[in-house]
Amino acid sequence: MYWEKEIETMDRGSLEKLQMARLGETLARVKNSVHYGKRFAELGLDTAKIRTLADLERLPLTTKEDLREQWPYGFLTCSRDEIIRMHSSSGTTGRATVIFHTANDIAAWTNLLARSMFMAGMRRSDVFQNMMTYGLFTGGLGFHYGAEEIGALVIPAGAGNSKRQIQLMQDFETTAIHIIPSYALHLSTVFTETGIDPRRDTKLKIAFLGAEPHSENMRRKIEDFYGFKGFNSYGLSEMNGPGMAFECPEQRGMHVWEDNYIIEVIDPLTLRPVPEGEEGELIATTLLREGMPILRYRTKDLTRIIPGPCPCGRTHRRIERITGRTDDMMILKGVNIFPIQIEKRLMEIPGVGVNFLIILERENYNDQMTVKVEVQRDFFGGDLQQLEILRRRIVEELKSDILITPRVDLVEQDSLPKSEGKAVRVIDNRKD
Ligand code: AMP
Ligand code: ZN
Repeated sequence: MYWEKEIETMDRGSLEKLQMARLGETLARVKNSVHYGKRFAELGLDTAKIRTLADLERLPLTTKEDLREQWPYGFLTCSRDEIIRMHSSSGTTGRATVIFHTANDIAAWTNLLARSMFMAGMRRSDVFQNMMTYGLFTGGLGFHYGAEEIGALVIPAGAGNSKRQIQLMQDFETTAIHIIPSYALHLSTVFTETGIDPRRDTKLKIAFLGAEPHSENMRRKIEDFYGFKGFNSYGLSEMNGPGMAFECPEQRGMHVWEDNYIIEVIDPLTLRPVPEGEEGELIATTLLREGMPILRYRTKDLTRIIPGPCPCGRTHRRIERITGRTDDMMILKGVNIFPIQIEKRLMEIPGVGVNFLIILERENYNDQMTVKVEVQRDFFGGDLQQLEILRRRIVEELKSDILITPRVDLVEQDSLPKSEGKAVRVIDNRKD
């Protein structure tokens, strides 16, 4: 069963032709943006020469830094009057990278989510509980609109408040949920505590699991506990958000909707394509976006293209679940955090020394961050009360920046391990 059979099962030749036609339109549009106008001029790029997918390499890569540099409107290809929605990456604060959508962009994105959820088996008879943060983050409104497009009954539950989530599931006989995998594990402990068995006491049958990396084992563990089928959902705000790549009922890799995106996998060092099937950094180009098209975006996510056709009949290629990042971005409870954000904040606080260490753990299926912070030797002279005031201040300042409450341990100057060369700032001890 397909949402749009013709597009989902289009033969590769026609699909690639469609991609090239849409790329041509996209290139004609992006010239109007401050960023690409400038980039194309610098490169002396004649976009008329981009005729096949093999020519793609001539186009410039786009990075998060480019988006920051052109913040906020330097990527727009239309007037601001045509923009109806803004989103941003989760967890970024201050000058977050922002993405703008026209009405057509929202319609196209909504269609991709409807297509994806339909593929996983959701229908208008389903009750869909969206347990994601609503707001700037794309996982809330993105899925919400897609589920409404299918015609399901949508419960915009938002994130957190576990007991209430369970209550909603029972009262309204929720059949499908969208949830962050680590939160699904945490919620399982609340189910157990309250003596409610999701297999027996709820009607759950489908879960969309996304926003953070998780292993096959973790998926199986979640599925076993709840008795539903869990579908991996991948996306990033720069490429709309969810609805970019999604698992089909085969649960073997995620189909990337290639009528909306061109994907490449490159070696992050040489920036050249890797042979098909090998792991590298995923690069993506939007094909239907009007307001803010992006060319060859460096996702920094590591994956590979799964060679060969999928038994489900869809011709859009599949990527493997994300295995890591090429940068030091951490994802905690679905929130993206860079060590540099923590470093910046810490260095502004008087009394803090130069060295710190971030330790990530999973306790009771909850992501926990501990920051060990060296204190300047002569700053407090061992005054315990002053140290406690400092500790609390660090917790508060970090919390306001990274949106997660860290544990903070103050330690003596020079007590943290020093590394030769690039400092090791993060130790990730999280296991499934
Ligand atoms: P954001 O822009 O806030 O939506 O964050 C996007 C990032 O979240 C991606 O670049 C990935 O690193 C991560 N991410 C999203 N979905 C998944 C997924 N299903 N598996 C692994 N990582 C994911
Ligand atoms: Zn498939």
